[in-house]
Amino acid sequence: MPHPAEIEEFNERIRRAVSGNPPVERRIWVTSLSRCLRKTALSIYLNTYSPSKSWEARIGSALHGWLGEVVKGAEFEVPVEYELRDGWKLVGRVDAVKGPYVLEFKFMGFEKKDRDSPRVKKNHDLEHAEPSKEWVEQINAYMGMLEKERGYIYIFDRNGLEFRVFEVAFDEGLFRRFIKRAERVIEAVEELERGRFPTWISTVGNKKWVCRSCPFRPICGAIDRKWLVEEE
Ligand code: SF4
Repeated sequence: MPHPAEIEEFNERIRRAVSGNPPVERRIWVTSLSRCLRKTALSIYLNTYSPSKSWEARIGSALHGWLGEVVKGAEFEVPVEYELRDGWKLVGRVDAVKGPYVLEFKFMGFEKKDRDSPRVKKNHDLEHAEPSKEWVEQINAYMGMLEKERGYIYIFDRNGLEFRVFEVAFDEGLFRRFIKRAERVIEAVEELERGRFPTWISTVGNKKWVCRSCPFRPICGAIDRKWLVEEE
């Protein structure tokens, strides 16, 4: 007797995992769509994506955990999903949701290197802190996925945990453009599955510095970013 479709699909996953050829996870993390879409596509295709490996991310998640423990009064670490096409999902984890508001917590280490400089630069200290474009588009994406109209980005000074709060109103156009990025990643993964390299997709904006710390540098250096190899 044939098994139900869900069981057959699960069995196929086991077979592919055992044969060392696990299926492509049809999930795209919100946080992976702000820097390089080619990197996101390659990470999904090669099954290497991990949303938070850097030491800063680890400190951030420890502090988020602490905040959730001591502050309470909100839902913390809320998983979110948004259906894309053909079983693909945009996924993420919102730092907190309080009633109709989405909250994101950012912990910054202000170094105050040029304390004596007459010009105080952005993010020199908490007083001059500003949410980055990436943070705004990510909280906006969470608002779109959760159908919320307003969010707040909290910026904490890691030394002492003083904080400032920045309000963000939902921007439908920005959300649509963000979803378009996810759709381009899907097309790029499909192209990789057909055995072609998606040269038409790369960093979001001209961010050469993103490439310098990317594990796929040798691949892009061999294909269309020769300067990456020349720099080594
Ligand atoms: S090397 Fe640059 S273009 Fe290539 S995947 Fe990495 S970040 Fe993207």
